[in-house]
Amino acid sequence: MDTRILIVDDDDTIRYLMKEFIETVGYRADTAEDAKAALAALDAETFEVVITDIMMPGMDGLELTEVIKTHHDVEVIVMTGYSGDYSYEEAIDKGASDFVFKPVRFEELLLRLRRVLRERRMKKELRNLAITDGLTRLYNSRHFYQQLELEAERSNRHENPLSLVLMDIDYFKQYNDRHGHLEGDKVLSSLGDAIRAGLRKTDSAYRYGGEEFTVLLPETIGDEALNAAQRIKSAIESKAFHPENGEPTHITVSVGVTQYQEGERSREFVKRADKAMFLSKKRGRNRVTFLSPDDPENEEGFCAASSPIESDQGIDAPEDP
Ligand SMILES: [Mg+2]
Repeated sequence: MDTRILIVDDDDTIRYLMKEFIETVGYRADTAEDAKAALAALDAETFEVVITDIMMPGMDGLELTEVIKTHHDVEVIVMTGYSGDYSYEEAIDKGASDFVFKPVRFEELLLRLRRVLRERRMKKELRNLAITDGLTRLYNSRHFYQQLELEAERSNRHENPLSLVLMDIDYFKQYNDRHGHLEGDKVLSSLGDAIRAGLRKTDSAYRYGGEEFTVLLPETIGDEALNAAQRIKSAIESKAFHPENGEPTHITVSVGVTQYQEGERSREFVKRADKAMFLSKKRGRNRVTFLSPDDPENEEGFCAASSPIESDQGIDAPEDP
């Protein structure tokens, strides 16, 4: 993928020379003649770095930097003359990643640009590591709670529906006991793939606990979420696993689905999905249950209420084969 750089300067010659230089060294460069054009470009397309002049008619480069850092995920390098009224500290304070003096020495700019890009990638990798479950490559539970709050807030603000799918692997403890944890890990990893394959662009999936997964479905009503859950359940069921010391085997999940109610606490929302999942267990597993807040079963105070959800262990565990 191209690394895209946006050059912002009111001087035509500088814009032209910089664009040529940036493209010579292998990046893709676009230009904007003022802050307004720069912000329009950032709204329309994705850039990794903005290199901006400070002295420009209209909004100056420092103010532009501040606006960019508030609204866009992009690095900023600012350029200014030695005699300028602006300091390195001011630029960094507005959120700039680096600072170069005019007239710009291209070799120096290139060094700084490469460093900024390197640090940006490292930051992204670290962030991804911090929110990803290593085994399933789904998001982890910490990220789930963050996104849950965000999506609930968004749903309240825009009155958009929001649904939640919560699933738990059936008899996973028995699988682990029989085939060992390495085989169990293979199942978890494979389920991660199956869940990911069933998602739409706006959905996000999480390893919620040991053998529990959640999917957040923004702008989705309960019925649609129910369909999505059925699809994921079937995809999982149709996968054959080949544990080293056993027969080819299939894994099933018990699934709960619910829709967010305007204004409710996210904890209640998760609790209801948890109850729905528990009902699927109770009704024989390998099924999907939808639970709405006014459902009498939602009022029943059975024991699965608190988070983290109760797993298969302990729920009328099956006889040993
Ligand atoms: Mg200027």
